[in-house]
Amino acid sequence: MTIDEDIAPQALGILNRVFGHAAFRGPQAVIVAHVATGGDALVLMPTGGGKSLCYQIPALLRDGTGVVVSPLIALMQDQVEALRELGVRAAFLNSSLGAREAARVEQALLAGELDQLYVAPGRLLSPRCLELLERSSIALFAIDEAHCVSQWGHDFRPEYLQLAVLHERWPRVPRIALTATADALTRREIAERLALQSAREFVSSFDRPNIRYRIVEKTDPKRQLLDFAGGAHAGQAGIVYCASRKKVEEVAQWLSARGIAALPYHAGLDTATRSAHQARFLREDGLVMVATIAFGMGIDKPDVRFVAHLDMPRSVEGYYQETGRAGRDGEPAEAWMAYGLADVVQQRRLIEQSGADDAFKRVSTAKLDAMLALAESVECRRVHLLAYFGESSAPCGNCDNCLEPPELWDATEDGRKLLSCIYRIRQSSGFGFGAQHVVAVLRGHASERVRQHGHDALSTFGIGADLSETEWRAVLRQSIAQGLVAVDHARHQVLVLTEASRALLRGERTLRMRRPRAETARSAGRGARRTAGTATAGAAGGRASARAAGSASADASTPGDGVAADALFERLREWRRATATQRGVPPYVIFHDSVLRAIAQQRPASLAALAAVGGVGERKLDAYGATLIDLIGSDAP
Ligand code: ADP
Ligand code: ZN
Repeated sequence: MTIDEDIAPQALGILNRVFGHAAFRGPQAVIVAHVATGGDALVLMPTGGGKSLCYQIPALLRDGTGVVVSPLIALMQDQVEALRELGVRAAFLNSSLGAREAARVEQALLAGELDQLYVAPGRLLSPRCLELLERSSIALFAIDEAHCVSQWGHDFRPEYLQLAVLHERWPRVPRIALTATADALTRREIAERLALQSAREFVSSFDRPNIRYRIVEKTDPKRQLLDFAGGAHAGQAGIVYCASRKKVEEVAQWLSARGIAALPYHAGLDTATRSAHQARFLREDGLVMVATIAFGMGIDKPDVRFVAHLDMPRSVEGYYQETGRAGRDGEPAEAWMAYGLADVVQQRRLIEQSGADDAFKRVSTAKLDAMLALAESVECRRVHLLAYFGESSAPCGNCDNCLEPPELWDATEDGRKLLSCIYRIRQSSGFGFGAQHVVAVLRGHASERVRQHGHDALSTFGIGADLSETEWRAVLRQSIAQGLVAVDHARHQVLVLTEASRALLRGERTLRMRRPRAETARSAGRGARRTAGTATAGAAGGRASARAAGSASADASTPGDGVAADALFERLREWRRATATQRGVPPYVIFHDSVLRAIAQQRPASLAALAAVGGVGERKLDAYGATLIDLIGSDAP
C-alpha cells in the first residue's frame, strides 16, 4: 500500500474493519499517522492506554513486515494468536520455537507473507536474524518495553543496549519505542541509547480513570482480603501481591479453602509450575493469582478486575505499575491495599539492613516516604499519584478519599503523649520497649508485663485512654513515617526517640493525620474501643460502593433490563469459554468482556447491528456473527 495524504482515513478504516473500534483513543491517531508516514516516535502511555495499535496499524499501512521487539517471550504466542483472530498475518520468533517452526516463519517473512513479526531482542541481534531481515522488506521496528534499556531501572536487559544497531543498518525504516515508565530520566536514556534523539515524543496522561484506588488500614488482612475479593469481586480475575513466598502460599491456600479459586506464583516455584499457573490465569475466567512482584511484568490480560496489595510496595512507581495491571480493557477495576504499622517498620528495616551505600539508602528512604505519604494522604489518591509523576489534575470522584472523605485529626497532642511515654519508659527501665507495650502503657492497660516493670506507676500510664489501640497504632505509624520515632531493629524492634522528636515535644511542629477508618464489624467486635454501630456502617458502606464500582458499566438500563442483560452476558461468557477452549486461545482473544457486555445490552438482531458494536471487526463478524445472532435470538429477554 502506498503512503499518501489520505493516511488518516486509511488508518481509521483499518481501526474500524480489522480491530472493530470506532475511534482512536487520545494520541493514537497522531502517532499512527506519524509512524505510517516514516517518522520515528517515542511513546509514553500508561498500561492499558493502547500502545499496541500505535505500531500495529502503521505496520498494516506500510509495505513489508512490522518487526516488534519484545522481551516478553511468554506473551508472544497470545499476542500473535490475538492478531490472527483479527485476520492479521502474524508470527513470532523466539527460543520456544523448534527449528522446523522457526524455518517456516523465516520462509513466510522472506516471501512477504507476514504483516507482523514478534522477535525476542537476543534473537533479533543474532547475525543470522539480522541477515534474514536484510533480505526482507521491513515496514517498521517497534521496540516495546523500551525502558528495558535503562540500567537504573528494575527491568534492565543488556541486549536492549545493542538495539541502536537497527538505526545504523536500516536508517530509512521508522522506529517506534514504547513504554509505560513515566519519568523523565528514563525517557532521556531511551532516546539516547536507542538513537532516538530526533524522534517525536508522545507523552500521554498517566491517569487510569477506570481504576478505583482504595487504601485501608490493616486490621485482619486475610479477612479484609476475603471481604474484598469474595464480595463485589467474586468470580472475577485479580492479582493479590504479598511480600514473601511463604505468605503467597499461605494466602493462596487460605482463599482456596474459602471458595475463591486462587493460585500461587513466586520465584521459588519451579519453572513448569510457574508457567502452568500463569497460563491458567491467562486462559481461565475469574482466577485469582496470589504472587510476589516476580509476577506481572507484561501480563497482558485485559480483564484483571482487581489488584490487591497485602504488603506495601517500596515505591509509588512500584505501586503504580502493579495496580496498573488492573482494568486494561477500560472497564471498572479496583486497586486495593491494606497497610499497617508492620509494613512501615519492615520496609524501614529492609533499607537499613540492605548493606547498600548511603546514597542508595537515601534514595530508597525517599521513595518509601513518598509511598507512605500516598497511603496516609487525606486528599484525592489520583491527584496525589499523578502529581508524583508530574501531572496536575482535579479530584477524581473515584477513589476512597473522594468517595468517603477521611476525617482529619490534629494529633499533635497525642504525638507528644506518645513521645513522652517512650521517654519515661526508657528512663525508668534503662532500656526501651516495643509498640505493643508502649500502647498498653498509654491506654492504661495494666498487663502482667506492664506491672512487672512497674510501668503502671509512670506518669504517662493511661494518659491516652481516650484513643483506641488502632488509633494509637495510627499515631505511631505516622510518627515513624515522619521520623519522629525510630525502631531499633538491632534490639527487638524497640521504639526510640530521634532528633526530630524534640521539635514535636517542644511544640515547634504539629502532627496532622487521617483518623483511621471504621474497622470491619469483625475486628471492632474483637475489642477495639469503637462503637459497633459506626464500624458496621463503615464496613457496609465500603462494600456497597465497591459493588457499585464492579457494576458501573451496567449503567443506563432499568433494573429489569439489567437482569436480562446480566443473564445474557453470562450465556455469552459460556459460549466464549467453550469457543476459546476449542480454539486453544484465552477467552479475551475471542472478545473482551466489554464487547460481550455491549452485545448483552444492545441485543443486536442482525449482522449489521452486531457489526456496529464496538470491538466487533470484520473477521470476528464472519467467524462468530451468525452463531451470536442465533444465541441472542434464542435468549428470551
Ligand atoms: P498497552 O499496550 O498500552 O497496555 P493495549 O495496546 O494492550 O495497551 O490496549 C489496551 C486495551 O485497550 C486493549 O484491550 C485494546 O483492545 C483497547 N484499545 C486500544 N485502543 C483502543 C481504541 N482506540 N478503542 C477501543 N479500545 C482500544
Ligand atoms: Zn479521588
